[in-house]
Amino acid sequence: MATTKNNTLKLKFDSARKYAPALESKSAATIDARYDLFINGKFEKPQSKKYFSTINPATEEKLSEIADANAADVDKAVKAARAASDKYWKKMPASERGKYIFRIARMIQERARELAVIETLDGGKPIRESRDFDVPTAANHFFYYAGWTDKLAYAFPGKDPQPLGVAGQIIPWNFPLLMAAWKIAPALATGNTVVLKPAENTSLTALKLAEIIREADLPPGVVNIITGAGSTGAAIVNHPDINKIAFTGSTDVGKIIQRAIAGTNKKATLELGGKAANIIFDDAPIDQAVEGVINGIFFNQGHVCCAGSRLYVQESVYKEVVRKLKDRLETLIVGDPMDKNTDIGAINSKEQLNTINKYLKIGQKEGAEMYQANVEIPSKGFFCRPTIFTNVAQSNRIAQEEIFGPVLTIQTFRTDDEVIEKANNTPYGLSAGVWTDKGSKIFNLTTKLRAGVVWANTFNQFDPTSPFGGYKESGYGREGGLHGLAPYLNLG
Ligand code: ADP
Repeated sequence: MATTKNNTLKLKFDSARKYAPALESKSAATIDARYDLFINGKFEKPQSKKYFSTINPATEEKLSEIADANAADVDKAVKAARAASDKYWKKMPASERGKYIFRIARMIQERARELAVIETLDGGKPIRESRDFDVPTAANHFFYYAGWTDKLAYAFPGKDPQPLGVAGQIIPWNFPLLMAAWKIAPALATGNTVVLKPAENTSLTALKLAEIIREADLPPGVVNIITGAGSTGAAIVNHPDINKIAFTGSTDVGKIIQRAIAGTNKKATLELGGKAANIIFDDAPIDQAVEGVINGIFFNQGHVCCAGSRLYVQESVYKEVVRKLKDRLETLIVGDPMDKNTDIGAINSKEQLNTINKYLKIGQKEGAEMYQANVEIPSKGFFCRPTIFTNVAQSNRIAQEEIFGPVLTIQTFRTDDEVIEKANNTPYGLSAGVWTDKGSKIFNLTTKLRAGVVWANTFNQFDPTSPFGGYKESGYGREGGLHGLAPYLNLG
């Protein structure tokens, strides 16, 4: 790169860094030294007698100790959920159930600041994201599904919607509280009881949600929150008295779950990996598109299954788009997630950072050209510079496999048909984005892209009223909206 260009970038880099730190206070969060399992309305010590540490990925400091539930603990939680289903939840008038769910939503709002701070400390995402997206969207899911509770007969006219019973729910680390809300709210609204397991490295906000559920005075056992790693998840999946599994996580574990429940009566929804294509046509508003691409892959550390990790740019605007992307990359602020200026926080765990670094090497070995923002990253904690790969071939692993980090591959295309084929050419099909001035192109692409969600001239927009889910190896079943109710119901 020419020196003048370097100087310009350095200037931009310096000006981005000129903001004085605007740190969110940790005092909003009370984190206990140790957390037990939330079973039958109470926090109980694990029968395993084991605990594991949860750390702050931005500092590597230990935050708390979390109970490691074994099969006996899972059994206790399932029994509590079954008893609560038979004794209270199924029998309760639907409008009463709705009031409890509404109360949880209100309490999440009241404790929003605390939840956002804990989410950021435990997961490493920027406080701006936890505060402005995760926590309010979690509350919105409870509000939204509270409204459906007594209207199920209208949602499914001519049917007799009945709850399935006990739902076992397993969630990942990228949106800990939001995923918990996403799973628990529709299950409760449809009259099911719940055993939920958060991811082992981000259990804290789910445990705070357990406190909220206790304070909301939900009948004991309606929601049970148990912590642990993969073996705890497997014990939920294999428990004979679970009626439904709702899982969000990796495609590999999704396949294990599918095999485990084959031949049983358990129903399942699986929301798995993704490798979303973001497509920029030459008639698109380029500046907005560039910002949308940055938002789609970098603002969340790439820790989103629907992240726009593959960019396809129409040949005539390729140079302009790449130049603008690189310029914008230099202004991104990577660092302390508790700083309100931060755009890219910490990678969630050392293992995940290792995976990302492995892919950076693979990409270079495959012959792609790597460009990383010239930003300083903290010496402690798990951080990754935002990275762009050009000169990428469709068959390259970096263009086919889910990296789950701030890494974007860029390729070109000439025609609609070519980009549709390239965009669909992955094992995944969770989401996609199209940037163009032409409504007709949007309609053409949205009908042909094999992705559960296609955003037009925007990216990563979420709303509780809108269904979300995948095609192919991205899973099956839909969550959110009216569609999110059906997988929790027996419709007769
Ligand atoms: P990610 O790659 O996003 O961490 P995983 O699929 O590994 O996704 O984890 C998602 C969730 O699944 C976590 O809560 C994890 O503990 C759980 N899990 C991992 N292995 C299993 C398994 N064999 N059965 C059930 N749950 C599992």
